[in-house]
Amino acid sequence: MTDKNTLLAYLNGNWAPLKDSVVPINTHALQYGTGCFEGIRGYWDGEQVNLLFLEEHFKRLQGNARMLMMESPSVEEMMQIAIESVSRNKMQTNCYLRPVVFKDSTELGPDLIKATNGYMCYIQPLGDYLDTAKGLKLCVSSWTRLHDNSIPTRAKANGGYINSALAKTEALMNGYDEAILLNERGQVSEGSAENLFLVRDGVLVTPDKTSGILEGITRSSIIDLAQEHNISVEERAVGRTELYRADECFLVGTGCQVSWASSIDHRAIGTGERGPVTTLIQQAYEDAVYGRDTSKSQWLTPVRS
Ligand code: PMP
Repeated sequence: MTDKNTLLAYLNGNWAPLKDSVVPINTHALQYGTGCFEGIRGYWDGEQVNLLFLEEHFKRLQGNARMLMMESPSVEEMMQIAIESVSRNKMQTNCYLRPVVFKDSTELGPDLIKATNGYMCYIQPLGDYLDTAKGLKLCVSSWTRLHDNSIPTRAKANGGYINSALAKTEALMNGYDEAILLNERGQVSEGSAENLFLVRDGVLVTPDKTSGILEGITRSSIIDLAQEHNISVEERAVGRTELYRADECFLVGTGCQVSWASSIDHRAIGTGERGPVTTLIQQAYEDAVYGRDTSKSQWLTPVRS
């Protein structure tokens, strides 16, 4: 079951093993990066897989597809395919779903109007993406975040992840765990695949939605959790050097969950240890996604396999 290649994947109406779910090499999306995607986690609670924020992810995907002149299946249909991905593969472990709306025709040229739409969804087991226990070593990237008028980061477009790949690779090659990208105004945007939060004098600060970020689903759930715990939140432009003056810093996202930073550009964040706000948020998030906090059951879609 955990051999990735034999897991069943959905491609344009068919279920087949991942290794047989292939597209022609001249596919529009492969040539031009013309797709948009989601990453959705499923948490195994010992009895069932709980898919996190299922409807929210597919609403975002449908909206982003339309922005990119693509048509996705309906939200209900995509949710059903996601649920079937878990049940058909009898998943009994933490897992990750990757649905993609993409241009699947094989015509030459990047025009989006004539190109036809495809849809795929595959699943794989997934543990931690970044280490949530140790403090991460972050750096400010030499690569600038994509401009909203070039490839919108809001769109979660496949081609846009070249920007993330360059920043992440540079960070790893220089001995860091993850990169923080600045936007074209030189302000903080986000990590290569994560939104960013700082704690300054007890206030949670995060770059606003015009800072060149993905409007993260985890980000918005963390804002809600913080407010429930009476922590004030500021969504605003964040200057680079605020990173170095922060008391705490953590990254959030479907993949990384809540991962904290011990240093940025070799400067210790706070004491260099996990801070109290980070600890509270990490615990509250984990309790919610594993179903221990029943007040958050609306976050989860249970699937028995
Ligand atoms: N920013 C980027 C660039 C991402 O790829 C992701 C992962 N989807 C995030 C932020 C976090 O978004 P979400 O919480 O919706 O997974």
